[in-house]
Order: sequence, then C-alpha cells, then structure tokens
Amino acid sequence: MFVHSSWKQLVRIRKKMRENTIAVRYFTLTKISFSRVVDFGPVGPFARTKLKRGQRMHELVVINERFRTNKRKSNAKLTAEFRDGAYNISLGDHHWAIRSDWVSEPPENDDVAFIGAVVLAMSNDIEFHTDLRVTEGCLRSIERLRYALRILWPRKIYFPDFHIGTSINNPGTVNRNGVLCVSGGLDSTFAAFLNSKNKNSGQNYGMVMIGADYDHDDDPRNDVLRQRTQKLCDRFELEMKAVEISPSFPKIVHWRMFHPTVLWMLTKYLEPKITKSAIAADYSSLSEFGTVPWGNCSAIINSLDDPTFPFSHVGLEHQRFEKMAALVDEAPDIIPNIIACGKLTREGKNCGKCGKCIRTQLNLEAAGHPMPEIFDAQPDLIKWLRARHPYRSQFKLRSSHVWALEHEVSLPEGPLRDAAVVYRKNIEASLIPRGRI
Ligand SMILES: [Zn+2]
Repeated sequence: MFVHSSWKQLVRIRKKMRENTIAVRYFTLTKISFSRVVDFGPVGPFARTKLKRGQRMHELVVINERFRTNKRKSNAKLTAEFRDGAYNISLGDHHWAIRSDWVSEPPENDDVAFIGAVVLAMSNDIEFHTDLRVTEGCLRSIERLRYALRILWPRKIYFPDFHIGTSINNPGTVNRNGVLCVSGGLDSTFAAFLNSKNKNSGQNYGMVMIGADYDHDDDPRNDVLRQRTQKLCDRFELEMKAVEISPSFPKIVHWRMFHPTVLWMLTKYLEPKITKSAIAADYSSLSEFGTVPWGNCSAIINSLDDPTFPFSHVGLEHQRFEKMAALVDEAPDIIPNIIACGKLTREGKNCGKCGKCIRTQLNLEAAGHPMPEIFDAQPDLIKWLRARHPYRSQFKLRSSHVWALEHEVSLPEGPLRDAAVVYRKNIEASLIPRGRI
C-alpha cells in the first residue's frame, strides 16, 4: 500500500500498473469527514473519482492489491492413491503426499484429498472434478468455510466449483480419541497445558506437522521440531504422532489463510483412530478483531467443526501474555522448550530478533521470568519499542496495535513499560479507524 497526496502521482502509478486492479481510499475534509474505497476495475476510468464541489482532499491512499477475479484459470481432475505407506494426491499438475507411521491402511474416504484440493483451488483459481468419495460432513464443513471466507476476505479468494462423484454418509463417532495439533509454540504449549487440566477434553494425542516449516525433509530443524513437540507431549500427557506433508504443498496454497485448514485436514488423515481434533487459538476472541483476516480465527475454526468430526479451538479466552504468565506460574520447566520463532536457527535456537521472538521476550518480561537461553540474539527491548515502525499496511498496523496494547497492560511499571506506551502511540498515529469515521 502506498500513501500519496496528489492525483497526478496516482495517475502515474496507475499507468505503471496497468494489469492490476487498484483501489483508492481517500479522505476529504468537509463538514463531515468520510472515507471511500473506489475500485477502478482492471481498466476502469479515473473519472468516477472526481470530488464533489467544495470537497478538499485530505489524504489519498492507493491500495496496490491484486484482487481475484471470478474467472477460473484451469480445470483439473483430482485423484488420490495410497501407495508405499503414503497417500499421494494429484490435482492437475500439482502433486503432494501425506504420510504418518501411524497410518498403514488406505483411508476409508477421500476427505483428506478433497480438502487439500479445495484449499489449492481457492488459492490458484482452479475448478476441479473427481470420482473420489467425500463424506457429507466434510462437504458441509467446506461449504461453511467458503461462506466464512466470503465475509472475511471478499475478492481475495477464488471460490471454486467442484464436482464430486460420490458423497457418503459418515459412520459417526466410533471412539472417543482426539488429537491436539502441537507446534512447540507458546499457543500450542498453553493449549496442551489447558488440556492436561481438563480431563474431559478427550484430546489424548498430540499431532505435529512436519514439512511445512522447512524446505527439505532432511533439514535438521525438523528433528528439533520433533524433539520439542515430543517433550511437550510427554510433559502434558499426550501421545505424540507426526504427520508429514510434502514441503511443496504449503508453497502453492495461501498459507496465511489456510494453515489451520491444512492442520484440520491432517488430523482427519488419522481417522478412524481419532474422531475429533483441536487446534490452539493464536489470538483471544477480542484480539481477533484487530488481527483478522488470519486463518487461525474462530470464524474459520467453527466453520470446520462438524458433529461427525468435532474440531475445537483451545485458548480463545486468553491473551498471549496471560498464556505466558500461566505457564511461568504452573509449568516453568516447559519454558526453555518453547519455539517462539517462525524459523529456528540451524542450531535449533529462536532467532530472537523477529516480531514473534520480541513478543515472546516481552511476555517473559511481563511474567517476571528470567530470560531463558533459547534466543540466538537478545536485542535491547527498550530501543526496539522506541524505534519507529513505519508499517504501511493497515493490517500490520492493526495487529501490531493489538500487541502494543497487550504489552502496555501486562508489563510492570518502569522504563520498559514506558517504551511500550511510546510503541503504542507511534502505531496509533498511523492507524486509520475501521468503519465510518
Ligand atoms: Zn524469531
């Protein structure tokens, strides 16, 4: 997103980016201030944006976003085959495989292939057909997912037509085993901790996804991920199961929006040994207001939940600093096990410098826990908070605002909290309020 102050600049940009659809939001200062998004369409004229008499432009924001059209790019056939202990799936030219040591038999239905195809088709404008067998429960979940995405992210997702051969009735719940997705991060560590306190949750397995984080199967960090999640599962009485997915798959789907749907798909691969699953919430329901659109949100998780395969969202009532405080109080031994960072160093340490690592360090400060040696670098947090963070994207600003408020309310009085206040004020200075202003 670029911010510009004149129509001339806009015209210049518009010429450069002829193939893109560009939306413009402008503010005028008249008796009542207002904002509008004007969508020019792929080749639309500028004439529609003329200001009314007496209106003076206050701010002009060009949103350089690539919107999706409703045109499909290709039509493909979905096939799947269980071979050599792995489930191999193809959608047109795209191929991926899923395997787990726990699964040695072909799946009873083809829901897993179908879900992967839907996610891939939504991300790449593909219409598809298949002869595979999909359960009615899964079809219901996918319809609800499509509906939720229409509300959360209109014009950014393609809603594919799919034609399936057979829909079959689910056999229903046959046992009471459930699996909780774990990644070793703070959210899933806290979810496992909550689960251990709630003996009726029914989640007695932990599932780690291998293949999404690192490009190669033989990357040593995959072993670190296995070891850390194993330790987490042992600590909170879950039996750990690993499910591997081709590292190519996360790269060809819109990962930010679909990673929880992919996790849900992988837990369904463990059917019928398990008949329900759960995922840790990334945000509290209040924080979701500032962080959506994001795949791990209650609107999406609730869409996927179905009576024939319940899927629940754990930890939605807690903010991130509360999760850290609870673990510091009741399970401090697990703190050095936490994977805070999206990308571990080759030695298996958290980088210490990325936004997630900084948030974790601030959460540790707020909980009064000495800094564990799990970070490769430890920047000066006061300096970091006082620095200007020139985010241009309103999405980034809104989610940073959520974190800024969390740090402000959780940190004890002192220079670090003062810096958190500066951080929050800097963000608020660039934040455009939502809705009517
Ligand atoms: Zn990091």
